[in-house]
Amino acid sequence: QPAKVSEKDPQAVALGYVEDTKRADKAKFPKHSVDQKCSGCQLYQGKATDAAAPCTLFAGKLVAGEGWCSAWTKKA
Ligand code: SF4
Repeated sequence: QPAKVSEKDPQAVALGYVEDTKRADKAKFPKHSVDQKCSGCQLYQGKATDAAAPCTLFAGKLVAGEGWCSAWTKKA
């Protein structure tokens, strides 16, 4: 089972990734809203109900379903 992405991972920092979408940096990302979550993102490689899953942007790691980053894109 792959490890979860750390919020301190340089890529996570660059993208403003947080494990809980409620903790996204509002000042830095004014377009963020709490209904945006990894589990509803186009790049989430799991089912919407999975607690964690791989993400295209974080090779070999898992992101939290409740997480968020600035590359969030609504699942089509
Ligand atoms: Fe989460 Fe999407 Fe960002 Fe990946 S790209 S960390 S699934 S919000």
